[in-house]
Amino acid sequence: MEYKHFSHPHNLNIFKVQQGQQFPCHGCQSLCQTDSNIYACWSCSFFLHEHCGNATRYLHHPSHSLHPLILIPSPTYCSGAFVCNACGNTGSSFGYCCALCEIDLHVNCALLPTKITHKSHQHDLKINFREADGQKGSPEFCKICSKAMGSKKNWSYCCVENGCDFRVHPGCGTTQVNLGWYQGMDPEDDKAPRTSETQTAPSPAPAKSDPVAELLDLQLQMQMAQQFAQLMSSFNPASLV
Ligand SMILES: [Zn+2]
Ligand SMILES: [Zn+2]
Ligand SMILES: [Zn+2]
Ligand SMILES: [Zn+2]
Ligand SMILES: [Zn+2]
Ligand SMILES: [Zn+2]
Repeated sequence: MEYKHFSHPHNLNIFKVQQGQQFPCHGCQSLCQTDSNIYACWSCSFFLHEHCGNATRYLHHPSHSLHPLILIPSPTYCSGAFVCNACGNTGSSFGYCCALCEIDLHVNCALLPTKITHKSHQHDLKINFREADGQKGSPEFCKICSKAMGSKKNWSYCCVENGCDFRVHPGCGTTQVNLGWYQGMDPEDDKAPRTSETQTAPSPAPAKSDPVAELLDLQLQMQMAQQFAQLMSSFNPASLV
């Protein structure tokens, strides 16, 4: 069985990683785990985690409800890298972006669960996309790795209990990723049992003008325009002064 991925010109085969093999994922730049399935193009040494290869072209993410985030195979910035809004680290491969608002997320960061439990803390931790209230001023440190929490823009996992100031880096809280988390608008709805009405009622035809698709087009056009502008400015001697 062969697969096609928009970021690669050749067909990909699915492959199970064996003990001792090391394949860096082209999508997220981390290694593929033993016994996990990956997509591979052997002639190019191109590999993708299953979840990176299956990541949808756009995502409705609760951290940015204004616009859908679009999966870009490589950063469109001059530097060739983006700074992830979630973890504050740079990325130079796949990213979920909103070009209109200059939001960039690693695939793995975009797929972080909203709620986790961690063995080092007795309460549930909830993802926080903004600076926690009442924590301006004094620098704050991650309760797991003891390093500084990073810029205000970056995400964290915070304890859900009132008055408990347990706060950690997203990457310290969990390494879980799951494509399903943000793909439906409301995952809770999926659990609702289907009623018998669906048996007789014909399924409605998909709406022709999809506002999301239109926005997607608009953003892609903007990205293309940005790339073009960057290209032009790199040929402009005035930009070197
Ligand atoms: Zn990956
Ligand atoms: Zn290839
Ligand atoms: Zn990140
Ligand atoms: Zn936006
Ligand atoms: Zn940490
Ligand atoms: Zn707590």
